[in-house]
Amino acid sequence: MKTTQFHIVTRKETPQDAEIISHQLMIRSGMIRKLGAGLYTWSPLGVRVLQKVENIIREEMNKAGALEMLMPAVQPKELWEETGRIDDFGGQLLAIHDRAERDYFFGPTHEEVITDFVRNEVNSYKQLPINFYQIQTKFRDEIRPRFGVMRSREFIMKDAYSFHMNKESLVDTYEKMHDAYTNIINRIGLDFRCVLADSGAIGGSGSQEFHVIADSGEDAIMYSDTGEYAANIEKCTAVSLIAERAQATKEIEKVSTPTQKTIEEVAAHLTVTKDQTIKTLLVEGSEGPVALVVRGDHQLNEIKANNLSAVATPFRMLNDDEIKTVAGCDAGFIGVKELNCHVIVDATVANMSDFVCGASENGYHLTGVNWDRDASFQQVEDLRDAQVGDPSPDGVGTLKMARGIEVGHIFQLGSKYSEAMKAVVLNEQGKSQAMEMGCYGMGVTRMVAAAIEQNHDEKGIIWPAGISPFQVAILPMNYQKSERVRLAADELYAELTALGIEVILDDRKVRPGFMMSDFELLGVPHQVIIGDRALDRNEVEYRARIDMASKDVSRDTIISFLSQAINA
Ligand code: ATP
Ligand code: MG
Repeated sequence: MKTTQFHIVTRKETPQDAEIISHQLMIRSGMIRKLGAGLYTWSPLGVRVLQKVENIIREEMNKAGALEMLMPAVQPKELWEETGRIDDFGGQLLAIHDRAERDYFFGPTHEEVITDFVRNEVNSYKQLPINFYQIQTKFRDEIRPRFGVMRSREFIMKDAYSFHMNKESLVDTYEKMHDAYTNIINRIGLDFRCVLADSGAIGGSGSQEFHVIADSGEDAIMYSDTGEYAANIEKCTAVSLIAERAQATKEIEKVSTPTQKTIEEVAAHLTVTKDQTIKTLLVEGSEGPVALVVRGDHQLNEIKANNLSAVATPFRMLNDDEIKTVAGCDAGFIGVKELNCHVIVDATVANMSDFVCGASENGYHLTGVNWDRDASFQQVEDLRDAQVGDPSPDGVGTLKMARGIEVGHIFQLGSKYSEAMKAVVLNEQGKSQAMEMGCYGMGVTRMVAAAIEQNHDEKGIIWPAGISPFQVAILPMNYQKSERVRLAADELYAELTALGIEVILDDRKVRPGFMMSDFELLGVPHQVIIGDRALDRNEVEYRARIDMASKDVSRDTIISFLSQAINA
């Protein structure tokens, strides 16, 4: 490819709304352009990278036995009524209707559509197991689209769905998908971690996420410093930090805290540490209000809370008026003594003694509070976020934290969808049975952004070899004026192209400095600079984008030199 026949439009300025480096570099290199909130056009340059990622995914999925297909992006609303998932997805669903006022959604995911396909196509155990996948555009009306294609509203996903007669077969395919995902991300060349995950609105029993490690990642990954355990903080089990509840040593006392509402303020005022206090949060329950109690220095984990049957879905904190009705005070003073609702405490809180809590009266707190003697709870659960330094829940090591970008998510769904949509087959005994199901998502457009997040420097992108838009860039100095340079550049271009190497030759009439900084920004791994002076010595200059180390190479050996560098 020659640049004058291609489309390279780079920008010097960093766009105002681009907070993270991958978004900045994708705009500056011209890979993507914004059309509207969470909507991006991929330029020919961007598409070259996108297709490389897609092809790696396709090859590994095919190798793992999955079958490629393509479903419509637009899905009839009735399908979603069958599974009752409209409320689960809520505002993320983009509703559309046709001229006959029939209702549709632009698909955010395809469990309903594939289950409809399979219930019509598959009717015997002999056709199972089977695993279908597609690479396709999804739409989710994200509350906060941001970071460019990292969290956009329209994005490309690879989604796969497997169907089985039994759990063992499901687990077998799930593990194959786990391995395929591992191979895909390794081939793309990214540092990642597979972690236990919450199943969210997709549902089902077990699930794992694949996270590309990056400081800008939106997710917190907790992992054992010495063991195997790793989980998204949403899912990470937080163990009780107090093995056994100590005897009460203090009397309960009501103390004045006229302006102290936050845990920090109360602890400072009473000269106690935050871990001697508790905080009580009132939320909507499935039958009346529910109090959730965590230690003062801990964070409530809303996902864990939302997964409890006593807590209403979607998760909602009570408002000020509702709090007043239930607790008789403002939010900063809610206590557990004589609290008239269902009380669920975190496992650590259940073992606390002599603690501080609100007095359920504005301007007052209680000290020396003890369970059973002064207050009671009905349920003990893991309600909090795990913290760095906590014991790992599997008993091996302590927890550390890293930030991650979720690029993939695999689920064992069980029969949730097949039962709701009556996707049944005849088993060996001739009896009708709902299929077991798994689903496996991977963010294709997000993967490209994640790759840049992990591979860049102050000058621009440094493409991992497997997904670079071009393998070699030929940068002739004075291509327009020096015939010798032009002939040498064209000859190298023809030779590399004949070898099947993807080359871009910059034949634009631009200053050498401009050309060099453009290709630093574009991140092509191997760059060959051709100039008159080096040609005098029958040499060209080779530069590796990774470290910008340059080396003069004889024209006679440059082809073998490049072939070696590419295959290294
Ligand atoms: P997230 O937690 O980031 O919102 P999710 O859990 O909703 O993602 P899944 O339903 O598991 O996502 O979708 C499968 C994959 O699709 C994700 O692992 C992610 O890589 C990608 N993906 C999901 N939402 C977006 C988005 N808004 N923009 C780009 N990629 C996305
Ligand atoms: Mg997910």
